[in-house]
Amino acid sequence: MGESNLAVDNFEYIDPITNVYNKYYLEKFYKDYKDKIIGLAILDFDNFKYINDTYGHIFGDKVLILLAQKLKKLNEDKGFIVRFSGDKFIVLYVDRPLEEINESITKIIDEFEDVFEFEGKKFLMTVSAGIYLGKPNEDLYEIIRRADVALNYSKRTKVNKMTVFEGILEEKIVRKTKLMACLKKALEDDEFYLVYQPIYDINLERIYEVEALARWKNKEFGEVPPVEFIPILEETGLIIDFGYAVLEKVFRQIKEWENMNINLTVNINISPVQISDMNFIEKVKSLKEKYNIDTNRIVFEITETQLIKADSKKRQIIKKLQELGISLALDDYGSDYSQINNVIKIPAKYIKISKEIVDLISEDYRVKLMIKCFIDLFNSLGYLIVAEGIESMHQFEYLKEIGCHKIQGYYISRPVDKEEIVKLVKHN
Ligand code: C2E
Ligand code: MG
Ligand code: MG
Repeated sequence: MGESNLAVDNFEYIDPITNVYNKYYLEKFYKDYKDKIIGLAILDFDNFKYINDTYGHIFGDKVLILLAQKLKKLNEDKGFIVRFSGDKFIVLYVDRPLEEINESITKIIDEFEDVFEFEGKKFLMTVSAGIYLGKPNEDLYEIIRRADVALNYSKRTKVNKMTVFEGILEEKIVRKTKLMACLKKALEDDEFYLVYQPIYDINLERIYEVEALARWKNKEFGEVPPVEFIPILEETGLIIDFGYAVLEKVFRQIKEWENMNINLTVNINISPVQISDMNFIEKVKSLKEKYNIDTNRIVFEITETQLIKADSKKRQIIKKLQELGISLALDDYGSDYSQINNVIKIPAKYIKISKEIVDLISEDYRVKLMIKCFIDLFNSLGYLIVAEGIESMHQFEYLKEIGCHKIQGYYISRPVDKEEIVKLVKHN
């Protein structure tokens, strides 16, 4: 269906800036074709706002014209282009299979990957897309909404530039929005609590350390796992208050155990936003005084990416934490894009090898050798190694053999409540 085949006899259907169809045309067109299978892709340019803000709207409009022309050319005989709003365009396909639409949108995305050059200025003009294949006679604005949900998913996750709408996606988004609305109240009502997972010292053959892990139990949603609520807390900035609440719970717990003659070191997970907060140090100090805790008992777990990206402010905070006697652990090493050379730059005492790496132990001998080399290297650099997610005796024995210092995982114990910890430590 070429654009030229569509007779347009009225300017009210043409976008005055870009000269492609506008949404009134889309509405009119859909009336005649609504019993067909309509595939709809929404495209959004990733940093168009930057162009407007930097070079002004007149320049922005000229760029928009070029983008529209390029889109039109790329789609000559497949779908037709509509400028929907701002820098959002729609490509409409009639009776085309999803694979074909995907292919055509992928081509568009690829075409916009290169640096865009105009009037002597160079900039990136990458594009993200959401696709939905409608059902015959489905409401046009419902089709658009679903493609838009998929587009937002592409933009937010940044995993792929193109997403095809699926029901599950919408469920996820609806759930996330609901959780988001609930979290502030949950924080006020103190619905969060901590469980503790023992960390077993291989040489001393005992537990004198635990990791505090947050749990959330909500009336409506039941138990929500931290991998789900922590990112939302981070996104909304609530993680700062949440983080303080966790710290306070841990300090209070250390004291409570101490009064029972149980002396444990506690590892606490810290989010990047928390170490950007200038009040962090003061808060830690005041908790130390309030509960009269030896801060040598505290380990903050931070992920590699956070530490690498540390700016001078964060570095300053990290230094002050160390002056307070708090140690740092590099959490989840080997799960993302870990680089050996990054480790050397990091002022951590512990390196926590991620479950992803530990899980490789049962594979061939070369993988095992690689893990041994890791541990030898970190050892000789002076780090203490904690392996996470140990589930089997086989993994345990191998890690012991190659000189890993500490072990954490279901093989030793799942995360448990404070009373269970007391029992475990007493029967060490
Ligand atoms: P993490 O810090 O890497 O914590 C280890 C996670 O691995 C925990 O999941 C733990 O239950 C799980 N785990 C431990 N041993 C095993 C095992 O043998 N097998 C398996 N399959 N899993 C094991 P959890 O409690 O769901 O926590 C997930 C993540 O949430 C944590 O990863 C941490 O990044 C984050 N998190 C938890 N509590 C807090 C908190 O208070 N603050 C912040 N900022 N993040 C937290
Ligand atoms: Mg951790
Ligand atoms: Mg971890």
